[in-house]
Amino acid sequence: MSALAHLHRPATIEEAVRLLAAGDGERVRLLAGGATLVAMMNAELVDPAELVSLAAIAELRGIRALADGGLRIGAMTRHRETAAEARLAGAAAVLREAAARIANPVVRNMGTIGGSIAFADPAADYPPALVAADAAVEIAGRRGRRQVPAREFFVDWFATALAPGEMVTAVLLAPPAPGRGSYDKLCRVSGDFAIASVALSVAWRDGACERVGLAVGGCGPRPLHLDEADALLRSGRLGEAAARRAGELLAAAADPLEDVRASAAYRRRVIPRMVERAVAQARAQLEANR
Ligand SMILES: Cc1cc2nc3c(=O)[nH]c(=O)nc-3n(C[C@H](O)[C@H](O)[C@H](O)COP(=O)(O)OP(=O)(O)OC[C@H]3O[C@@H](n4cnc5c(N)ncnc54)[C@H](O)[C@@H]3O)c2cc1C
Repeated sequence: MSALAHLHRPATIEEAVRLLAAGDGERVRLLAGGATLVAMMNAELVDPAELVSLAAIAELRGIRALADGGLRIGAMTRHRETAAEARLAGAAAVLREAAARIANPVVRNMGTIGGSIAFADPAADYPPALVAADAAVEIAGRRGRRQVPAREFFVDWFATALAPGEMVTAVLLAPPAPGRGSYDKLCRVSGDFAIASVALSVAWRDGACERVGLAVGGCGPRPLHLDEADALLRSGRLGEAAARRAGELLAAAADPLEDVRASAAYRRRVIPRMVERAVAQARAQLEANR
């Protein structure tokens, strides 16, 4: 490892962006919780000359309600806080459940939602949950702020819609709707990254499905999501046949890797079973509410 990196502690997003833009993406790095970045520096996988700590930027911290009733989750919000957020209820509970399944208490105390989604590990828990919830990602750069739907934010293995010099500032959610949000994660041991995961967000009104978002994690370069599967589940009122077909479609569209956790064939095989289970649980809750 070369000389110790110089640490900046900007107090505003604008200052952080200015510092970031002065580098080439490798030389200057944003530092959130350090859960991943410090481990990578220790392993000498990255060797930044300058670190821009986001810890002193108040605007990046915490979860707050927006004027329309939606929620804004600041990029520096720890997984522990998101896992404990009572306003992430109904269809939005998918995000709270995903946060609660990340690693272990130590990592949940350190890791942040902004760092997690910017890193975009295909086995991470937030990406499929954000896609299922149809969240948006707020991004800041030298030219100001912009919003990108989560469904367009994750573009490839460890690659996002962030342009050089841009940073994640928040995750934005529509007003939490009555319904059910669930996150199921299959892993070798508790706290491990997912072999496969299924995020489901169903909003309902008067006993009918209004919106369904289904996404699979760990089975390709980015969260796996098909409009067709969502539409099938909605029109099929979360029925068994619709769940089976949605699971088959997603398994056929998956592009899983073979790695230390599981073979690609195993991952394809578990997707329909996990989808059917998640949908059956949502159906049972919907029927109980009628
Ligand atoms: C032992 C261990 C187990 C884990 N298990 C899981 C798991 O089961 N599931 C899971 O989902 N995750 C898991 N993680 C990852 C964890 O969720 C981290 O939160 C996540 O990788 C990012 O860490 P961080 O927020 O501390 O960001 P950092 O480590 O500080 O940064 C990570 C990267 O993102 C960049 N970055 C940080 N913030 C921003 C921002 N706002 N905008 C743009 N770029 C930014 C940094 O420059 C760096 O490149 C695990 C991590 C560890 C160490």
